[in-house]
Amino acid sequence: MIERKIEEIKKSLPMGVELVAVSKFQPKESIERAYAVGQRIFGESRPQELAEKYQALPKDIEWHFIGHLQTNKVKTIIPFVSLIHSIDSVRLAEAVSAEALRVGRVVDVLLQVHIACEETKQGFSVDEIVQIIEQKQFNSLCGMRIAGLMGMATYTDNSEQIEREFRKLSELQAKYGFRLLSMGMSEDYLIAIACGSNMVRIGSSIFGSRY
Ligand SMILES: *Cc1c(COP(=O)(O)O)cnc(C)c1O
Repeated sequence: MIERKIEEIKKSLPMGVELVAVSKFQPKESIERAYAVGQRIFGESRPQELAEKYQALPKDIEWHFIGHLQTNKVKTIIPFVSLIHSIDSVRLAEAVSAEALRVGRVVDVLLQVHIACEETKQGFSVDEIVQIIEQKQFNSLCGMRIAGLMGMATYTDNSEQIEREFRKLSELQAKYGFRLLSMGMSEDYLIAIACGSNMVRIGSSIFGSRY
């Protein structure tokens, strides 16, 4: 089932769109099944869980951190994480950069942008992103490299609203010429791709429900 789902989803992705298989709360066996059919990028949202899976699973897996990251958990993942999708505050950016420098790395990150109308979703506002980039606010943070932007649309059936939110992020990405645009989850990834996403984060459509 997992194997077939991965293959189906991969076939539906245009060239140049990367699949992050979101394996949070899933057992290692499920990740191994996805790995066996060629999946190499996995997304996790808890530092401890990510560290344990990193230890136990093949070393050519690219581990992406996709959830809210507390500054006091940064050191758990910095030695091995490939991409952090969820830089959502100045304080977190500073902590990530400092820890990366401490262990002798430069870590690729995405800035998370708040595009949904829900209060609960994390991220910088569009205006804050403009300010960070144009005033080169993060240029002194030599331990991290801003590779792009990430966003989550409102959880709604209204596909026009989702599209509007994704377009807003896509325009911001184009304006600054970032390489990566991480948007789209199980329920909305086709809309996200139509709006220019080149990295989709898909969990439940591959692994089934987490609960
Ligand atoms: C859990 C999660 C996903 C995957 O969601 P699904 O609906 O299961 O595909 C994607 N992105 C983030 C940030 C998540 O926390």
